Amino acid sequence: MTRCAWCGGAIGKNSGRGRPKRYCRPSHRQRAYESRRLATTRGLEFDDVLISRSSLEAHRDQLYLLEAAYEDVLTDSVDATAPQMLKTVRSLRRSVEAAVACDLEIRATGA
Ligand SMILES: [Zn+2]
Repeated sequence: MTRCAWCGGAIGKNSGRGRPKRYCRPSHRQRAYESRRLATTRGLEFDDVLISRSSLEAHRDQLYLLEAAYEDVLTDSVDATAPQMLKTVRSLRRSVEAAVACDLEIRATGA
């Protein structure tokens, strides 16, 4: 599956000839263009990405919770009763959903 170079969302299949799509929508192509211009003015490298400190910390917190929930599932799946396993799986699901919803807003890239 091809992913948008800006948001990571899925891109539909190309219709016809021409260059392969890199962005899921025109506004994401524009944001990528603007971010490249901003990156140039700040001396960023090709694969550098800027995000806010609060976004980075929120992302790390969510990943920590996801990891902890996953370890709980591994531990409980060995000898847990079915109700406990269900509770653990629900906890894992909540953590995964929160991690996926954690938005890392791209402000500039060097690409
Ligand atoms: Zn996109």
